[in-house]
Amino acid sequence: MQQPPVIEIRDLHKSYGTLEVLKGVTITAERGKVVSLIGSSGSGKSTLLRCANLLEDSQSGEILFKGEAVHWRGTGMARRPGDARQVLRIRTNLSMVFQQFNLWAHMSILQNVMEAPMTVLGRDRAEVEPKAREYLAKVGIADKADAWPAQLSGGQQQRAAIARALCMEPEALLFDEPTSALDPELEQEVVKVIKDLANEGRTMILVTHDMRLAADVSDEVVFLHKGLIEEQGPPDQLFGAPKSERLRQFLSATQ
Ligand code: ADP
Ligand code: MG
Repeated sequence: MQQPPVIEIRDLHKSYGTLEVLKGVTITAERGKVVSLIGSSGSGKSTLLRCANLLEDSQSGEILFKGEAVHWRGTGMARRPGDARQVLRIRTNLSMVFQQFNLWAHMSILQNVMEAPMTVLGRDRAEVEPKAREYLAKVGIADKADAWPAQLSGGQQQRAAIARALCMEPEALLFDEPTSALDPELEQEVVKVIKDLANEGRTMILVTHDMRLAADVSDEVVFLHKGLIEEQGPPDQLFGAPKSERLRQFLSATQ
């Protein structure tokens, strides 16, 4: 039997007060696939990721994790994810990587990577530490385990943040503009890690302004415009033969 998608979002509507940010968005991340979200600033990309991770309430629509529908409490403006254990299970299985790394400044790099598996999942240090070191090696910063975040370059900090996300051994990774805060020469070291993860067959949703990265790693690209999907499809089609005038304009502006 075919496995259900890791993440499925159906007809999601999300408003902040009177501002409707998502106006009925449907996306699916199948196991082992990479979906990239592109679009102008303010189009709702981060909001969509935050909704997928149940960090946000929403007004209507469905979110499913491996076929399991999120339970909601309340309706409309008062609707929020309603089952704390389900929220924890889903959130710990969808690890986020943010533009600003968000490492804990008062912890070593190794502690940063070990923290959530130990405190959130209740794993033993003896079990977590070798894995944490393995993931640090995987992203190329094994020698930084005992350093403080402030002692690392931006690219190294972002790779540490990726190791931290991996150490949760999540079902999917959610990236929100992971290279946007980096100088171009540091961007490439993070791009390489993301490409390696895609080649390993990890399930990912990637918000990025880097069209070359999106073209290289994605199975599907979704162009969001003012809270609606304007166009979606395989990268060859989206970048090579965009149908929508808005997408054409967006792509020519980002060249
Ligand atoms: P993107 O990531 O595509 O740049 P966002 O999802 O961050 O877009 O934002 C979409 C819209 O929602 C923007 O108009 C933004 O100002 C608004 N928005 C985002 N977060 C909040 C919030 N917490 N409260 C109110 N408005 C918000
Ligand atoms: Mg954003």
